[in-house]
Amino acid sequence: MSTRLAPTVTPDTAFFWEGVAEGWLLLQRCAACGRFRHPPRPMCPWCRSLEWKAVEASGRGTVFSFVMPAHPELPFMEYPYVVAVVELEEGTRMVTNIVGVGPGEVRMGMAVHVTFETFDNGVVLPQFTPEVDR
Ligand SMILES: [Zn+2]
Repeated sequence: MSTRLAPTVTPDTAFFWEGVAEGWLLLQRCAACGRFRHPPRPMCPWCRSLEWKAVEASGRGTVFSFVMPAHPELPFMEYPYVVAVVELEEGTRMVTNIVGVGPGEVRMGMAVHVTFETFDNGVVLPQFTPEVDR
């Protein structure tokens, strides 16, 4: 297993990364209008409320878009790999990796679910893998 750069944790994102370390995919949900948002930020972009709760996501979604980065080659990555925008069931999107499938088999609209990967340097990242019955 390779290593990964550790995420930058801020007061706004700490709940998310603490959840990931425990195997939970947490999303911010506005306490006023109920909409989900990601990445975490202090204010709701729709109603401007500063009140929110951390809610566990279903972990299911679909591939909205994806790329296979090639240059510049990063020493800690194994090539080829897929960077995707996954649209979660909750209606918000997340930038992530698609794993457990050949990069050439990834398709827009593919049903995926979250999986948590622990790298050699202790970094835990949420990644997505195709649903079995696709
Ligand atoms: Zn709101």
